[in-house]
Amino acid sequence: MAEPKESKAGVKCSFCERDKQDTTVLIAGKRGHICDRCIEQALQLVKEELNERNGNSLYKSINLLKPLEIKKHLDDYVIGQEDAKKVLSVAVYNHYKRVAQKPAKQDEDVEIEKSNVIMVGETGTGKTLLARTIAKIINVPFCMADATVLTEAGYVGEDVESILTRLLQAADYDVLAAERGIVFIDELDKISRKGDNPSITRDVSGEGVQQGLLKLLEGSSVNVPPQGGRKHPDQKMIQVNTKNILFICGGAFEGIDRKIANRLQSQTLGFGARKGLEDLNRNNYLQYISPEDLRSFGLIPELIGRLPVLTHLDSLDEATLRKILTEPRNSIIKQYVKLFDLDGVKLTFDKSVFDFIVEKALEFKLGARGLRSICEAIMMDAMFEVPSNKATKELHLTLDYAKNKMKRSAINRLKVA
Ligand code: ADP
Repeated sequence: MAEPKESKAGVKCSFCERDKQDTTVLIAGKRGHICDRCIEQALQLVKEELNERNGNSLYKSINLLKPLEIKKHLDDYVIGQEDAKKVLSVAVYNHYKRVAQKPAKQDEDVEIEKSNVIMVGETGTGKTLLARTIAKIINVPFCMADATVLTEAGYVGEDVESILTRLLQAADYDVLAAERGIVFIDELDKISRKGDNPSITRDVSGEGVQQGLLKLLEGSSVNVPPQGGRKHPDQKMIQVNTKNILFICGGAFEGIDRKIANRLQSQTLGFGARKGLEDLNRNNYLQYISPEDLRSFGLIPELIGRLPVLTHLDSLDEATLRKILTEPRNSIIKQYVKLFDLDGVKLTFDKSVFDFIVEKALEFKLGARGLRSICEAIMMDAMFEVPSNKATKELHLTLDYAKNKMKRSAINRLKVA
């Protein structure tokens, strides 16, 4: 039998031709050898290829619509809020266009920065709804977090990293998918710096939490406890890179309209500025909001800088509430009709019932959130009795019926004096 070729010149790696004595491990195959270094390099190549393929399929799963199309979809679910819808559509489009860029292109001269968003508007005006709906349209994992439960590391409460635990859970622990998700952080105004904002009674070191959030918003690798809660030395962490996660923050920033008004007054004091002041819409100062106002409310400049897209939500007037009740694709009324339909019952309403519900929602100062509770109060008895009554095929709700049910309902106690 012929001797193997290497035996004369010493055994070598067939790939890099390193001699056996220069390697840590040299594995023999049928036709040659491979050394530890070549194995490592090959493994790296395989990993990169797999990442590229998985990544590409992830990009494909993102439904990257154009801003106009995104806005059109939003119109199906969110009434009014034209400014916020437009701004958000553009921000989301730009963000995912940036994410979907091929890595090689990302290194080119112009680096597109992340466009995290901040939405300012009263509670119940649709901030969460907007963020949630847009994540659904684009088809990316979504989670929401409340800034009020966050505390600086070391305090009782949740570490900022726990926000990402929820995103991981929403993505079924698929780290690559989570790294392209949307996080909605509500009540950002509640972590504003104490002192600048007298309405804050409890300050779990607002500034400390803001600093913590900065780290997430900036785009960095963060160690995330997979089961949430506090970081625990025994818990195995999952690394999540936040570079491509879109953060949308929301807050009511109660009283900020006064700060806006003050700023506008002082800005428009100069010669010829009276005209500017007269043109202002005094019923809606929020539309003139600028980063400066967030700063005077107590957000640190670094955080404001990381939330470059600023938009506002209008408060809901009677006409808008009326539309919210019946028009969105899954409006509250449509949901009740569907519920009864599933029991084979055709549910209809007198139009005046809708006006009555809106009137009550305004009276209770509950905004759009109140519509639901008022409807529940009116519909409860019908929902309790009708499914057992096989003879009922139709149910028509009159104004008297609604008024009667409302009168007896516990919700009446909610009435604001
Ligand atoms: P926010 O986050 O601003 O406090 P939400 O988005 O949670 O308010 O709104 C509460 C509920 O009110 C939503 O589930 C939705 O049914 C309804 N709602 C509020 N604003 C709108 C709107 N502009 N269009 C449609 N529904 C709305």
